[in-house]
Amino acid sequence: MSDQPDVLVVGAGFAGMYALHRLRSQRLNVKVLEAGGDVGGTWYWNRYPGARCDVPSLEYSYGFSPELEQEWDWPEVFSAQTDILRYANHVADRFDLRRDMQFNTRVVAIEYVEEAQRWRLTTEAGECLQAPFVVMATGCLSVPNKPRIDGAERFQGAVYHTATWPKEPVDLAGKRVGIIGTGSSGVQAIPELARQAGHLTVFQRSPVYTVPANRKPMRAAVQQEFRDHYREIRALQQANAGGVSAFRPFRNKPDDAVARGARALPRLLDLTQEQRHEVMAQYGLGALLGFRDIYSDAEANEIANELYRETVRGMIQDPAVAERLLPKDYGLGCKRQVLDRDFHATFNRDNVTLVDLAETPIESITERGIRTSAAQHDLDVLVYATGFDAMTGALLKANIRGRGGRPLADKWRYGPVTYLGLQMADFPNLFTVTGPGSPSVLCNMLVAIEQHVNWIADCIDHVHANGLGTIEPRPESEETWIAHVNEVAQGTMYTAPSCNSWYLGANIPGKPRIFMPYVGGYPRYREHCEREAAGGYPGFVLQQAL
Ligand code: FAD
Ligand code: NAP
Repeated sequence: MSDQPDVLVVGAGFAGMYALHRLRSQRLNVKVLEAGGDVGGTWYWNRYPGARCDVPSLEYSYGFSPELEQEWDWPEVFSAQTDILRYANHVADRFDLRRDMQFNTRVVAIEYVEEAQRWRLTTEAGECLQAPFVVMATGCLSVPNKPRIDGAERFQGAVYHTATWPKEPVDLAGKRVGIIGTGSSGVQAIPELARQAGHLTVFQRSPVYTVPANRKPMRAAVQQEFRDHYREIRALQQANAGGVSAFRPFRNKPDDAVARGARALPRLLDLTQEQRHEVMAQYGLGALLGFRDIYSDAEANEIANELYRETVRGMIQDPAVAERLLPKDYGLGCKRQVLDRDFHATFNRDNVTLVDLAETPIESITERGIRTSAAQHDLDVLVYATGFDAMTGALLKANIRGRGGRPLADKWRYGPVTYLGLQMADFPNLFTVTGPGSPSVLCNMLVAIEQHVNWIADCIDHVHANGLGTIEPRPESEETWIAHVNEVAQGTMYTAPSCNSWYLGANIPGKPRIFMPYVGGYPRYREHCEREAAGGYPGFVLQQAL
């Protein structure tokens, strides 16, 4: 093998880690460049108190190695960040990944050198590396969004972002802590910060729909049952729209409806109002996730939204606080479903204040804290839980230039254009893992990542096996695909006019409003990818090697 890399992979999260392992198995020389100090990506960076998974860990795990599946123990059903990062480290050790990884290396420019059919990558430190193939495993949620707020630089206290939380413990005891943002990260962090801080002030711009998370420890018997059925579970994941098997451990629940397979769920519209209230009283907010018509029928959606509001009113002691916590301008299903532990109960604590920014917007950040239109809130610590420049952020930040020096930012000025979220015309041999236009963040990400990496690895193999030089999509394949991506998103709750989510780029001022992931379902998408590969890549242009 030559010392020159055949493939440069950018990012050492779960995507970059598996890309290295898989491409190595094809005897390719692979090098991974990672901005962070170690593996894990999301789980390396997002160390805020309360950070954890919203997919069961037995599902949110690699499926490529039966040995790995058999040897790893998950302590909880939905793992904490610390355990997921432990898992990432275990995988890196087990498959000896670090020897081909270069950490603390941010890629700041990626240019196509047409005459050499190669890509040239430049790092922040000025190092230049070249390879014929590039895999962008840079993550969909890896560029933190820190909104520009007047006076932010003046604040004299400590400032943290949930997505870059320090490795060292942060002592909040007795401190006046403020947090901006009530998305998934804020909702997970708020109860923990309230427990640790002297006082917590929550600055909320939009109320959130959140339901209680499963907080059970993993039972050894359930884990064993998964181990015994992993092949079946992975097959079920491949057939499920969201890449989740929904496997029920029937041996350990022999008695009821949770036998294997999907449960038949009633439609919310088919229940009387009295029955709906009974369900909510018995199961709480989580019951709302069980009614499928909520996400496809506007009437059912509004009934569910109102049931949510009624239930939350019953959970909050101060009616004025309760009213502020209730989403009224958009419906369930518009944003990624948020799961919480004690979120609503936190607002009954004496040391927590909710500031509704819709009523009293932030005017500025001062030396001492946050000034809203109504009051000055003095703070020792300010936490941004303000999310990410999602899906396109990391790709655009890497300053990619394709054929003729054309910047990706120019190609994407009206929104991302890709074929299958895997490649772009005029950017030959450059692949994006879970890129815009693929199921990506609408899917169990480990399933989406493995499918993409396998497809990319097979594609590179095809190029080599046929003595070819490059592969890139035909422009018409992109056009047809993007039209399809937009078409299937129309009429869903995700694209309702009242909906403003990061899926639509609506959280970043000036970002084009386009629904970025593919909502047509993982199996349908996968079949499309498989047809391309099986047919010799008819939607792509393949060029001879120079
Ligand atoms: P990442 O893990 O984001 O890794 C990308 C890596 O690329 C990062 O380490 C970054 O430093 C590096 N990078 C980016 N740009 C450059 C550059 N220019 N140069 C060098 N390095 C670069 N998904 C689920 O399916 N279930 C969940 O429960 C879930 N929970 C989540 C919780 C949080 C807090 C967040 C933020 C996301 C969550 N996600 C979840 C989505 C999660 O991002 C994916 O599941 C998965 O971890 C993504 O892996 P990745 O390797 O594609 O990207
Ligand atoms: P997010 O969902 O985008 O939430 C960001 C929050 O910050 C929102 O409440 C937003 O308000 C607020 N905000 C943004 N800019 C603001 C401003 N200028 N002023 C005031 N408020 C502002 O980001 P996130 O919570 O980090 O979650 C992003 C995604 O990461 C999730 O959807 C999920 O996919 C993943 N994630 C998953 C988990 C998990 O449970 N496993 C945990 C964390 C993250 P608006 O709503 O008004 O924009």
